[in-house]
Amino acid sequence: MPYKSITGMHDVLSADAERWQFVEKTARDHFALYGFAEIRTPIVEQTALFERSVGALTDIVQKEMFTFEDKDHDSLTLRPEGTAGVVRAVLEHNLINSQSPDLKVFYLGPMFRRERPQKGRYRQFYQIGVENFGSSSPLADAETIEMLARFLNKVGVSEWSLHLNSLGQKDDRTKYQDHLRLFFEKNKNSYCTDCQERMDRNPLRVLDCKKTICQELATEHPVILDFLNDESLQHFKEVQNILTQMGIPFLVNPKMVRGLDYYQRTVFEFTCPKLGAQSAVAAGGRYDSLVKDLGGPDSPGVGFALGVERLLLLLPEKLEEKKNQKIFIAFLGEKARTEALTIASGLRIHSLECEMNYEVKSLKSQMRRADQIGSSHVIILGEDELKKGMAAVRNLNLKTQEEVSLQSLVNYFKK
Ligand code: ATP
Ligand code: MG
Repeated sequence: MPYKSITGMHDVLSADAERWQFVEKTARDHFALYGFAEIRTPIVEQTALFERSVGALTDIVQKEMFTFEDKDHDSLTLRPEGTAGVVRAVLEHNLINSQSPDLKVFYLGPMFRRERPQKGRYRQFYQIGVENFGSSSPLADAETIEMLARFLNKVGVSEWSLHLNSLGQKDDRTKYQDHLRLFFEKNKNSYCTDCQERMDRNPLRVLDCKKTICQELATEHPVILDFLNDESLQHFKEVQNILTQMGIPFLVNPKMVRGLDYYQRTVFEFTCPKLGAQSAVAAGGRYDSLVKDLGGPDSPGVGFALGVERLLLLLPEKLEEKKNQKIFIAFLGEKARTEALTIASGLRIHSLECEMNYEVKSLKSQMRRADQIGSSHVIILGEDELKKGMAAVRNLNLKTQEEVSLQSLVNYFKK
């Protein structure tokens, strides 16, 4: 084979397309119940957009982005996540502003991160994401989380755990970061070189370093929950109360900080043990300064992104069998061929699914093809039958056959 797909990037073949479509359709229908509408943004954005929003000192920006210089010397990046581009787009098109800050959107599409490929971790992967702009009420956090929980249940994934934490507001973070720096100071030189660099400017990022040495050194680190001001604490309590009221189980995980800088206050992750090492199927949080940081009004927001490949690993092997009719048209001889296509056209106008061969072939070969593609019925067009305006219809499941007039074929299959 002279050409191969790029490391960590995968084809979705037709055999799997049904599972993807099932997930996507369920998401569209489910999010619509909550008033979310789709938004599609480009796959490529200015590199600076991600540096500014995801954070220049995060793993994503420092190590994982596919960044290249365009011919006119702009630095461009294949999007590693969806929120930054969505915020850029809604500001560019003035979809949120200080007069009308509310907007609910979802997106669905490929993201790119240059990570080490393994099960559940790829270099091109798909996310379904949601952004809920305009409110800092804990109701917005709870509803967004509840929508995701119910979505997972709807696609048949019910064995999840929801981890919740609060990262507080800017002042809480500043206090916390000072304590973290002090904590890291003790073993400063034992951390990896990346972490040593991050420690001063962005100590929180040391906590999501994936290196074993850094994780071991940081085991007993101070947790942000001990540094929250009353307002942040109250907000976090309310999110928990509302979730409890709606019957969404969760556990508070004071060590979870998430890998992107724009999160504030509520952060969450849905994990599934079945996924093994890459256990997070979806994650998100509140980002109250992001819109402002990217040049917009002071508009809060909360959202999440779900990894489609990881979700697909959790779905049952076989989706429920569709019991649709599928018709194959077998024609005998050159003269019947165009008539066959005309009949196919007539059936499809009435939303009946049918296929036929283009080439003249034996009945036996056509029956084999009908079987191969899972047909339920075969219409057999012989020249003699055609002269009488009739066709034979064979039901492959019941193994019966009857004569049907060409005019009544649509009615026959519609009944
Ligand atoms: P992880 O801790 O697994 O690296 P993350 O914190 O980097 O995840 P987010 O940026 O929050 O993940 O993205 C949300 C979701 O997108 C994840 O929960 C996961 O399901 C999916 N995801 C993230 N990175 C990848 C990847 N490289 N390949 C496949 N799915 C991914
Ligand atoms: Mg990651």
